[in-house]
Amino acid sequence: MDQALLSTHIHFYNVASYTIKKDGDYQKIEVHIGDIVEIALVENESGFASVDAIIKHRGNDEQDYVFIYITWFEDISRQDELLLCPIYQLQKDTNHSWYRIHPISTVKSTSEVLFVHNCDSRCTADHHETSNFKYIQNNFLFTAI
Ligand SMILES: [Zn+2]
Repeated sequence: MDQALLSTHIHFYNVASYTIKKDGDYQKIEVHIGDIVEIALVENESGFASVDAIIKHRGNDEQDYVFIYITWFEDISRQDELLLCPIYQLQKDTNHSWYRIHPISTVKSTSEVLFVHNCDSRCTADHHETSNFKYIQNNFLFTAI
């Protein structure tokens, strides 16, 4: 929707949730800062992103709208040679080529996605090197029955 930002009051949250009705069932979706989520895009496309902020904005219609500020995972078309899992690169802070603010409702309910840091020799047991932006998508995630 097109709106002018008349209100400068923006509220930040650590967690937000919403409920959707799908096939007659209600499903609660909860998003935390730091979560890695799958985001629905146009034409059944989706992407993966890390949630950096959760923002509530009051629109000109006096309704509250919740948005997430994200950092995208970019598919660099490489695989880990041992695991054969895709490698993604976390978008750099200076890269604004992709929209980074999206309505919270774009978070897909089936977000069972897990990424692990593609550690290098600079990582330790307590600290991941933050200048290494590469992550491995865990394709071995499954639901235990
Ligand atoms: Zn690491």
